[in-house]
Amino acid sequence: MGAALGPIGLRAGFAAQSRLDGNSRSSSLEGKAIPSWVDKPMRWAQLTLVEDDPGKFDPQFWLDYFKRTRSDAVCLSAGGCLAYYPTEVRFHHRSQWLGNRDAFGELVRGCRKLGMVVIARTDPHATYDDVRAAHPDWIAVTVDGKPRRHWASPEMWVTCGLGPYNFEFMTEVKKEIMSRYHVDGIFINRWDGSGMCYCEHCAKNFKKASGHDLPRTENPQDPGRREYILWRQQRLFDLWQLWDSEVRKINPDSCVIPNTGGGATSSLDMKKIGELAPILIADRQARRGLAAPWANGKNGKEFRATMGRKPIVGIFSVGLEEPYRWKDSVQNPAEFRLWAADGVANGLRPWFTKFSGTLRDERWLGPVQEMYCRYASWEKYLRNVKPLARVGLVYSQQTAWFHNAKVEDHTNGWYQALIEARIPFEMVHDRLLEAEHIAPFKTLILPNIAALSDEQCEQFRAAVKRGTSIIATHETSLFDEWGVKRKNFGLADVFGVDFAGRTELRMQNAYLRLEHDTARNHPLLNGLHDAPRIIHGVARVEVSPRKKFPDMPLRLIPSYPDLPMEKVYPRQPSTNIAQVFLSEDAGRVCYFPWDIDRTFWEVLCVDHFKLLRNAVEWATNEEAMVNVDGPGVLDVTVWQQANSMTVHLVNLTNPMMMKGPIREFMPVGPLKVRISQKERTGKIHLLAANKSPRVERSDQHLIVTVPNVLDHEVIAIDL
Ligand SMILES: [Zn+2]
Repeated sequence: MGAALGPIGLRAGFAAQSRLDGNSRSSSLEGKAIPSWVDKPMRWAQLTLVEDDPGKFDPQFWLDYFKRTRSDAVCLSAGGCLAYYPTEVRFHHRSQWLGNRDAFGELVRGCRKLGMVVIARTDPHATYDDVRAAHPDWIAVTVDGKPRRHWASPEMWVTCGLGPYNFEFMTEVKKEIMSRYHVDGIFINRWDGSGMCYCEHCAKNFKKASGHDLPRTENPQDPGRREYILWRQQRLFDLWQLWDSEVRKINPDSCVIPNTGGGATSSLDMKKIGELAPILIADRQARRGLAAPWANGKNGKEFRATMGRKPIVGIFSVGLEEPYRWKDSVQNPAEFRLWAADGVANGLRPWFTKFSGTLRDERWLGPVQEMYCRYASWEKYLRNVKPLARVGLVYSQQTAWFHNAKVEDHTNGWYQALIEARIPFEMVHDRLLEAEHIAPFKTLILPNIAALSDEQCEQFRAAVKRGTSIIATHETSLFDEWGVKRKNFGLADVFGVDFAGRTELRMQNAYLRLEHDTARNHPLLNGLHDAPRIIHGVARVEVSPRKKFPDMPLRLIPSYPDLPMEKVYPRQPSTNIAQVFLSEDAGRVCYFPWDIDRTFWEVLCVDHFKLLRNAVEWATNEEAMVNVDGPGVLDVTVWQQANSMTVHLVNLTNPMMMKGPIREFMPVGPLKVRISQKERTGKIHLLAANKSPRVERSDQHLIVTVPNVLDHEVIAIDL
């Protein structure tokens, strides 16, 4: 990708390159070799030192711990905001506690003795007054032209990520670290700036590249903002490549590893990252707020969509990850064990991260050790060759960048439904749709992938002709790749419907009539045969069918008043307006002209779940690779290794899993119930189980054993 911006810039490098079948391992990194070590480590450790650690923390403790946990790679603090070695680079501040020590070098030597891969951590995002005095242009500038103080450490300044601080100063720091320590790689944390910067370099360079002034609006339809979204990426890819080239000149078997990437809302192009990076670190450290426990596995799937078989490492934090940033905390081991397990089940190699070499709370040490030793003993079965999933869930950065930043609500709805349905699936990047990329999949799901180019629509069209099935929702293909609305869906012929000109953004109290008479026993209505109607979604696109569809299992019951209660009766009990369009070419096509996936994520209605699950089963139309029966919520993944295959079952069943309506009853028991009762009692009975429980008596108490409680049990004690 050259300096050219616009659609050509984004499309450049659209070369066919198979990832899921493993060919990418032999590809070059724009002419650079993949370092020989990247595929070796399976269990990563990270120790991020704090300024007062040198002289205070015990390096030998950490070396012992790395050994005990059977960690085979480590990331150690080296430089950037602070140096933990005796740097000679001007303006590179040494820790005030460093003295004559080399805290970094000592750890590097110890880890090398343990045979570990060693990565140096740098973080360039903040600096000091003397640096600002000498180089005011290295500091980030706010929209009103003021240099930016650091938000958390007010004695520091935020640096510009796209100017000479990174391009010049941090290049010198990296060269020094690599020439002194010959580490295997350099990890770059917070290297991509800290939000929008209005400094003189950003203004000048952006103007020169695009002809625009720096944008002052978030609207992606503003030409300046649109260009900036692309220019910033180009600048960061240039920076990464500069650092990577410079360290490889010193150690050809090394690389620079950016802390970057993610899913649809990631600001850097995952496709380009997948081409450039020999290894990546997925940085989603823990749950926060109402995040689902499968979100770490999702991260793995998102990265794999563009990384293919290249190693992907998943950071998990032993501390809490909330906006209040208790970086020194220790969270409950069950929480990080499940988080890491879901990552491992989804192909991530675990990486634990701890901030501060001096421990203030040691409760995490044992659980991480236990987990790592377990994964070490499983190693042969964790070296996956490829996933065996037959369903691909498409994600679209261009839709998030240029059309709708909330596209994740649709994706999350599908993600939750596929987890609940226990259907193994992968994620697919919307700009890697060549036949060899999507060949493993029988069904592709497009969760409101609104922004698609003509070429991408053609790729989906061709896929259906080859026998791939497609499920799409709502405004999929109604906008071009720049988020500009089309007159009709780009995929109108595939869906068999035309856009009728109107999108209803907010339906209140609307329903769907299930057409059991005309679409009798249609697989889309499995599990809904007793339901004459179910709730509709919230938004819908008006469409007109191009042809007669053989089955129309869902029809619209339009909104009617929801208050006063006397007025709540349907004005139109039925219409002929279909709300799902099912057709069969070589592949099957299922189009929902409404936001079933987004509404499911918001409301978690089980009827919507059934429609989503049934749509995938109908579209895929083959025997499932794996079928798991029994209660609970499980993340099920299926993998092939060199000489084996594995089915991972991660138990997400937990009252703390997420908000939402109750799905099923999970029995708990046996329970021991101790009741203060000094008087003699008569009969003791379990009313729901309809039997007498085991009872132990003491002077003061009755101890009743309840074998299990499904939904409701009553211990009845006659007095
Ligand atoms: Zn700047």
